[in-house]
Amino acid sequence: MTVSPLSAMAFEDRMATTEFRVSGTPHIVVEGDSCRGCTTRACVIACPAGLFVPTFDGGILFNYEQCFECGTCYLVCNTAGAISWSYPEGGSGVVFRRT
Ligand code: SF4
Ligand code: SF4
Repeated sequence: MTVSPLSAMAFEDRMATTEFRVSGTPHIVVEGDSCRGCTTRACVIACPAGLFVPTFDGGILFNYEQCFECGTCYLVCNTAGAISWSYPEGGSGVVFRRT
C-alpha cells in the first residue's frame, strides 16, 4: 500500500498547513440551552478540530473559527435544534494548503 505524504503527516503538522479565512458570521451556531440536557456530548468526541468544549455547568463552548466543515457534529448530535449548520459565506472558511 502506498501512503501519501499528506496522510503520513502528524495531525499537528497537517493543522499547520491549514488556513482558515474567518467570516464575521458564524456558519455553525450551537444552541447552548439544548446542550444542557444532552447526555452523550457526542460533538466533544467527534469534532476532529476539538471545537466543542464542555463547561462545568453543563453547557458547551463552541468556536467556529477553525472548523474543517466536515459536518460530523451535525450528524452525531441527536438533539433537534441544538446545531444550526451551513457552509461559510463565499470566500470564507477552511483552505487546505498542501505545501
Ligand atoms: S451539540 Fe448536540 S451532541 Fe453536542 S452537547 Fe449539544 S446537544 Fe449534545
Ligand atoms: S463541521 Fe467538523 S470541524 Fe466543524 S465544528 Fe463540526 S465536527 Fe468540528
